[in-house]
Amino acid sequence: MIEQINNLLPQTQCGQCGFKGCRPYAEAIAAGDADINQCPPGGDEGILALAQLLNVSPKLLNPAFGEHKPKSIAFIIEKDCIGCTKCIAACPVDAILGAAKFMHTVITAECTGCELCIAPCPVDCVVMQPLPDALSEAEKTARAQLAKQRYEARNLRKQQEEAENAERAKQKRAALLNKLKSAG
Ligand code: SF4
Ligand code: SF4
Ligand code: SF4
Repeated sequence: MIEQINNLLPQTQCGQCGFKGCRPYAEAIAAGDADINQCPPGGDEGILALAQLLNVSPKLLNPAFGEHKPKSIAFIIEKDCIGCTKCIAACPVDAILGAAKFMHTVITAECTGCELCIAPCPVDCVVMQPLPDALSEAEKTARAQLAKQRYEARNLRKQQEEAENAERAKQKRAALLNKLKSAG
């Protein structure tokens, strides 16, 4: 059921629903901990699809979670970018390329329009721009699938990094303890 719910969500990974991405929101809906009308990017169309899947009455989007807007993508004003990498750290689908002290750029085809890279930018050089052309249903599905894969891959990588860091810290503590024991 979680997978079926997740497949109906737009995969923008913006967190406006109050959860850290579409899958955690899908899990909360399946557990009865969240309502079906908390996803602004999905809008009324998404709510209707969820209501049909779950066999419940559709509702209007709850404005407390935001409003439905036309899809847009991020654009970096490269001449102003100072290469701080903060936007890369914020992007839930790894759609930004760049390295420390070098200008950054958004991979347009991979940007979900989540807007999470705007606030961390210290020089306000990330702006949202409307998608030049309306997406067909097939294009919307393909973009959502790509975003889902990239979000999952990023989460996996972050989990691995955390596990590696924890292991390194453990080894450091053990080495320090051994040193203290042999000194004492
Ligand atoms: S698109 Fe944003 S608001 Fe909608 S489910 Fe995904 S993370 Fe939540
Ligand atoms: S580039 Fe910005 S708007 Fe686009 S997906 Fe990444 S964080 Fe979201
Ligand atoms: S947060 Fe802004 S200044 Fe920093 S790398 Fe990203 S676009 Fe450039």
